Amino acid sequence: MVSTRTEATMESMSSGYHYSQEILDGEEGEEEIVDQEDESSAERGRYAIVEDSCLSRLFKRCQECGELLDHSLTERKRCGSALVVITECLACNKKVQWDSQEKVGIGRGQAYSLNHRIPISAFITGTPLPRLCDFARTLDLDFPSDRSMRKTIREIGSVAIERVYAGWEETVREVAVNASEGDGLQVSIDGQYDSPGFTSSNCKVTTIDCHTKLAISGVALSKKEDGIDGMSIRMESEGALRALVDLVNHNIPIKKLVSDQNAMVMKKLREHPKTAHIERKLDWWHVQKHMRKEWWKMVKANPELAPVYQMFFNHLYFVHHKYPRREDRPRALELVQSFIIHIQGKHSWKKNDEFKVVTRCEHGKLKAKKRGESRVTLNAGSEALESIHEMLFAPDSQRLFSLLPLLSILRSMNVFILSA
Ligand SMILES: [Zn+2]
Ligand SMILES: [Zn+2]
Repeated sequence: MVSTRTEATMESMSSGYHYSQEILDGEEGEEEIVDQEDESSAERGRYAIVEDSCLSRLFKRCQECGELLDHSLTERKRCGSALVVITECLACNKKVQWDSQEKVGIGRGQAYSLNHRIPISAFITGTPLPRLCDFARTLDLDFPSDRSMRKTIREIGSVAIERVYAGWEETVREVAVNASEGDGLQVSIDGQYDSPGFTSSNCKVTTIDCHTKLAISGVALSKKEDGIDGMSIRMESEGALRALVDLVNHNIPIKKLVSDQNAMVMKKLREHPKTAHIERKLDWWHVQKHMRKEWWKMVKANPELAPVYQMFFNHLYFVHHKYPRREDRPRALELVQSFIIHIQGKHSWKKNDEFKVVTRCEHGKLKAKKRGESRVTLNAGSEALESIHEMLFAPDSQRLFSLLPLLSILRSMNVFILSA
């Protein structure tokens, strides 16, 4: 009677009994453990913290015959986070072993479930192990040692995560390739350092398929690796190269690469036989960043351009968002350039060598200015106007703007990396 009740209590704690005269020595015993696991696997996975004194109450009597036990014969063993209680009964001579947790794994790799789950949970939640050990010590809670948790993460966690990751990676690559419908992928690459500048010791480089927005590869680098030789600045270009070579090696057709203007990345990719064919493009955010730099130089030389600066960027963003499609880019480029006419106070003009498509501004009727306010205009032939003209029609700017810009892909990527 007592025995039944005890068992029921134990079952609700999702643990179980097994007993044998030859505990864990001999194949028979091991087989028995495996069988029990199968039976109880459905209820595995919920845990409760039990206080010592409460637990002792459950082991007052023999589980076999119900006689009171001589507690000097009861053995308690700690095994990381698990507790093993072995009782020996003088009345019926049976030895009973109770484990506070199920075992997972097979053969020599067998371990109590929480001894695996604690370090893995810490790992995937980013909990530092030393803090976790402090936590357990403060509570007087049995936990696996720091060393064995690291071993579990290294030998089991990392391997399992790697396997899952590889599976996901394969799937997203397949999705991205299918979505490209044979055209080849347009990808975006950016690196994230663990700390700024030359002090960083690690860098993550992520490749995203611009069409599906899926991360199709991730490379983690350390400053100490060969080819980087302690130069943290080399990590991003090396990572970008590795990522692309890996993709090419896996027969992922990479057609275009959108990235920032990192000269080192570009050079590395251009020089490597496996990545030389990839067309390189700049993303929109970096395009406008380049233009801002040019403007700052102009404003410095011609302070009267200061109020024009923001007008230009409003115009640039407006055009960029209105004409995102590649086929509209020539028109968009002319519209951007037509700022040069608009700023002179003219809003329609005749076709000429510079404007073959666009002959008028796309804004509606301009709001009338309040009395005393005047619209900022620049005079034809003025130095300020000439410098804007030069900037807008410079081959570099034209090339930058005509490239298919992507809406801040790199910035959304940073968000992704931070949350990954
Ligand atoms: Zn007994
Ligand atoms: Zn206008």
